[in-house]
Amino acid sequence: MSDQFFKQPMVYAWQQETWQRLTLRFPDIGHGILLYGKKGAGKKDFALHFVAWLLCLDKKPQAACGVCASCQWLKSNTHPNYVHISTDDDSKQVHAQIKIDKIREIQPFVQQTVEGWRVVLIEPAEALNTAAANALLKTLEEPGERTMIILLTDHLLKLPATIRSRLQRYALDRLSTEEAYTHVSQHAPELNQHQIQLLLNLAYDMPLRALELAPQAWLEQRQALLHDWLSLVKHKNGLVRYANKWAKALSFIELCQMMQYLITDMIALKLNQQIKNIDLNFSDILSYYDLNTLFNISHKLQDAKMYMQQNIQSQLMIDDLFVMLLNL
Ligand SMILES: [Zn+2]
Repeated sequence: MSDQFFKQPMVYAWQQETWQRLTLRFPDIGHGILLYGKKGAGKKDFALHFVAWLLCLDKKPQAACGVCASCQWLKSNTHPNYVHISTDDDSKQVHAQIKIDKIREIQPFVQQTVEGWRVVLIEPAEALNTAAANALLKTLEEPGERTMIILLTDHLLKLPATIRSRLQRYALDRLSTEEAYTHVSQHAPELNQHQIQLLLNLAYDMPLRALELAPQAWLEQRQALLHDWLSLVKHKNGLVRYANKWAKALSFIELCQMMQYLITDMIALKLNQQIKNIDLNFSDILSYYDLNTLFNISHKLQDAKMYMQQNIQSQLMIDDLFVMLLNL
């Protein structure tokens, strides 16, 4: 856990330019920085790398030294000049918030006078609720000296404009398909070209997200699910059997995620757009659904994921899911 700050010697290739801009101009980079970009672009890795560098007492051009007192504190999670703010760990809800108390708590911290730099990392920044965002604005207006507040977000436009405008913004997801491909192939040499392409499609071309998806069981099962699904709608029986089978094969969340990807592609096909699951053939199943029904299923899948976080029993949910697929 604590070595998260030092897990890589350098930032990722596509982040080098931002790294240079920040470190060469330092300390003239303002006191508030917003790092944004799609999920899987490596924002958090970049941020931690930069936090360690800011605090390091013997900075190297590409990284913190890893051995000074500051680096040691970070490694042992005891750095007195670093605060990490996030949603509560025990709250796994999609809409978990960062509340105002947490922002109020950092106010004395950023205003005190100490030796060296103080750093606050806030992520995901879109989780700041309105009151917390307003409190943060105050902090950004009058920070103490040698203070750096870093925000991370997947969704730039979900942040209030007032916050966005107070921060120096850096996009970390600007990379070519070739760069993304190279990164995945280097880190998962067991994958072939088609597998990498598929993963990048599903990951919106973000290499770290693609690598996260690679080991997930449902990837291998898409074809089989599509097969059962087709059989179900064709013969209109076997509902309980299929529901039981898939409840055993995958977790409810995995099943929802897989179906969401399949439905999204079916919608894309209806709209004559590119699909992501390039290795699957949807033509048979597609003939059973109109666009409206597909949108309905898609919305219900999103709802289902939310209910799941409120601990509704998943076997029931999976039964419902299959009933829904039969409602043509
Ligand atoms: Zn150091």
